[in-house]
Amino acid sequence: MSEDIPKDAKGAAAKGARPGSAREEAAGAGFPTVASGAPDAPTHIRLYGTVADSIVDGPGLRYAVFVQGCSHGCPGCHNPESHPAEGGTLTAIDALVADIRANGLVHDVTLSGGDPFEQPEACAEVARRLKAAGYGLWAYTGYRYEDLLRQADLAEAAPAVAPSADAEDAAGIAGSADAASKAPGGASPDQAAIRRAAAVRSLLDTVDVLVDGPFVESLKSLGLKWRGSSNQRLIDLAATRAAGQVVEWRPPAFSLEKPSNW
Ligand code: SF4
Repeated sequence: MSEDIPKDAKGAAAKGARPGSAREEAAGAGFPTVASGAPDAPTHIRLYGTVADSIVDGPGLRYAVFVQGCSHGCPGCHNPESHPAEGGTLTAIDALVADIRANGLVHDVTLSGGDPFEQPEACAEVARRLKAAGYGLWAYTGYRYEDLLRQADLAEAAPAVAPSADAEDAAGIAGSADAASKAPGGASPDQAAIRRAAAVRSLLDTVDVLVDGPFVESLKSLGLKWRGSSNQRLIDLAATRAAGQVVEWRPPAFSLEKPSNW
């Protein structure tokens, strides 16, 4: 187990990864990081790999973060090595964020996997820091949005268990990305579940576009953009919150019409 960006990331994850650079930056090479939001915020995330220059995980040039761990088991999944929760590489969040911020060409980040919502505390912390630094964020999940909302509601159902941090800091409440039984500070499994729920809420509140639902092989189409099967939705989370119902994301309109003063 090391704290580097994986040196031997497999498949797509190997493209563009820059072994070593993250550790150098995190070690104090003068590269600024965005401060953690809570004293007990998660410090590490378990990664399958990273791609520093992805053009397939959302619009434009993006830094893709593939987290380790996914329980959905979709037949036909392209990343089965990312499924074991204990696999991958335990990586310092400071190092990951520094590596992203060192890339001057990238202004958008995609959290994929694996399933980011199976490491909600760590992913919420990464997302919170990146959003504070001005990055656009997409996330892929095998869960449906409605199911994630039900998970998140658990946090509001028992607010007394959560520490006094405000909603934004809820991303960093729990210190474990692995399991309720590893909750910090002696938290009971119920407390850990509530903290995970708070992290799910934070992640949903921070990400711009959520691509939701499992990959369904019978609904696969190569004509689909940024999703593998037609059951998956590209959800505009801010518009969805405002409307109170799912609003699908649409790319900004782009016109090549000649300006009127030409
Ligand atoms: S949710 Fe994604 S990573 Fe997980 S099994 Fe399904 S396709 Fe694979």
